[in-house]
Formats: sequence, structure tokens, C-alpha cells
Amino acid sequence: MKRLLPTSTAGSLPKPSWLAQPETLWSPWKLQGDELADGKQDALRLSLHEQQRAGIDIVSDGEQSRQHFVTTFIEHLDGVDFKRRETVKIRDRYDASVPTVVGAVSRHKPVFVDDARFLRQQTEQPIKWALPGPMTMVDTLYDSHYKSREKLAWEFARLLNQEARELEAAGVDIIQFDEPAFNVFFDEVNDWGIAALERAIEGLQCETAVHICYGYGIKANTDWKKGLGTQWRQYEEIFPRLQTSSVDLISLECHNAHVPMELIELVRGKKVMVGAIDVATNVIETPEEVADTLRKALEFVEAEKLYPCTNCGMAPLAREVARGKLNALSAGADIVRRELLGER
Ligand SMILES: [Zn+2]
Repeated sequence: MKRLLPTSTAGSLPKPSWLAQPETLWSPWKLQGDELADGKQDALRLSLHEQQRAGIDIVSDGEQSRQHFVTTFIEHLDGVDFKRRETVKIRDRYDASVPTVVGAVSRHKPVFVDDARFLRQQTEQPIKWALPGPMTMVDTLYDSHYKSREKLAWEFARLLNQEARELEAAGVDIIQFDEPAFNVFFDEVNDWGIAALERAIEGLQCETAVHICYGYGIKANTDWKKGLGTQWRQYEEIFPRLQTSSVDLISLECHNAHVPMELIELVRGKKVMVGAIDVATNVIETPEEVADTLRKALEFVEAEKLYPCTNCGMAPLAREVARGKLNALSAGADIVRRELLGER
């Protein structure tokens, strides 16, 4: 029988300090060449081990082989010039120096497929693999070629679909697309964002997920959140269209967020990865706090469709903190699982 309330993380976990500078986004690698390739595999093994030690049910690579959840994928594409950098406002929120699209984009070889195959060899557990979503990719670039966010998103969706099909063939059980941009550009999401995402998952037999959050716990994001008021209703704008989309799972930020839990009702029927761990604080949740968030979510999603998760990636956190949070997630899910099975 399938385990009730299977736990997982949104994706990234801290890297060991011998591989990259800890607690930093876009942290440069400390190794090179073959040493770097070996180091990434060792880090992946460690990250998997920590998830298993914590009792996480659906495991991932902890994004150990990528510098950043969006740019690492883009780096492997043709048509993007990483030397031509422009400063643009990303997520309508903060300035970032980004590469430029200078010609037709294409993917001449797989990006993460070898890493996914390596992870598959290490475990019999279900594995989840994260890719950036088309809209978030577009929003993390300067485009001097297509001059249309929508057109570029469709091109990226086509390339993501190629990658996703190969990840599926490598044995990935759930392919997740990270779309923090969905929480910002509502009109575009409804016009073409979700359609582009559906293009990216076209023809896949494995399960698919979309992760929509309020971002890593970096200052630009925490400042933005302060201005969002007491009720964060962003999800309300996009859930109706997502509910009718072909995506299987929706990964959300729910813990310590001012997201009214009842908004989950709008995606009734979908599987929901409920964020029960706050990634913007070093305070480690108690199992009871995690359980409390899950119980609230259970009012709006059937137990068979509830997947306890983290609000977002934990890459910028200290390893000890991330480890504590993984344990709390597991223990909290266990409390509710026992309640549901009448084992109190
Ligand atoms: Zn996130």
C-alpha cells in the first residue's frame, strides 16, 4: 500500500563547504574539472543520505550539482550568451545581473540526465527532479532576440520537454517545475504561463509538479513579503486555471506564510505539496507545529493527496538547520499519519 502523507522537500539542500561557499546563493564552486565532477557526486550521495536519515519518503539530489535552480539549466543551452550580462529586475522585485538571449535557443545535449541516472542508482525510493519552469526562465534573462516573453517561454517549454522526457526515461518518478514567477505575473500566467508549462510536460507518463512559492529566505524576498499585507492571496489569481491544468501536483508555501489555507480549496482534486517548513528562518519547527499546518491543510485536501513538504528550497540555510528541519518535517508528518490511521 502507498504510504500516507509521503514527505519530500521543495528541492535544494545546503551544499558541503568543501564544494561551495555555504549559506550563499550562486555560490562559486571550490573544485574544478574532474575533481568538481566527483565532488558533485559525493555531495549528492551525502544529501541523499541526510534525507534518508531524516526519513524523507520522496528523495531528490538536493540540487547538489547546480549552482542555481534557473541559471544552471540555461547555461547548458545554445543561444544564451553568459558573457553579455544585463541588470534586470527579476520577479518584479530585485535587480540581478543576468545573461542575454542572443539567438535561437536550443539544447544540444541533456543537462541533468546523467545526474538523475546517478541518483536513480543510489536508491529504490521514489525520486523527484526539479527543473525551472518556462516563465521563471524567461524572467531570469535579458532577451535581445525574441523580444517577446511569451515566444521565448514557448521555446523554453519545448527544450524543457526534451529534458523531461529523458529524465523520465532515466527513472525519475516526479518531475517538478519551479515557477516562483507564477506568484507575480498573474495576467501572463493565465494568458500563456500555464499553457507553456503544459507544453513542457506534454507526453510524460511520470507525475508532474509545479512549485510556486514566495522565494528563498533572502532579504529582497523577506522585504517584499512585508509589503504584502496580512493576507497573501496571490495564489487565488492562478489556482482556478491551475486546477484545470494537466499538472498532477502543486507545491505551495503554507507554513508561517500569510497564505489563507482555504485557498487550497481552489485546486481541489490536485495533489498538494503543503509547505510545512519555513525556509526563511533558522528557527527549527517543532513536530507539533508541522503537524498543526498539515491538519489545517487537511480541511481542504484529501489525506491521500496531501504531500508534506518545505515552503521552498533550503540551499541558503546552514546544514545543521536544514537537517533539523528535515527531521521536524518527518516527525510532524508522522504525528498526523498516526492520527489518520487511528493509532493515537
Ligand atoms: Zn521556492
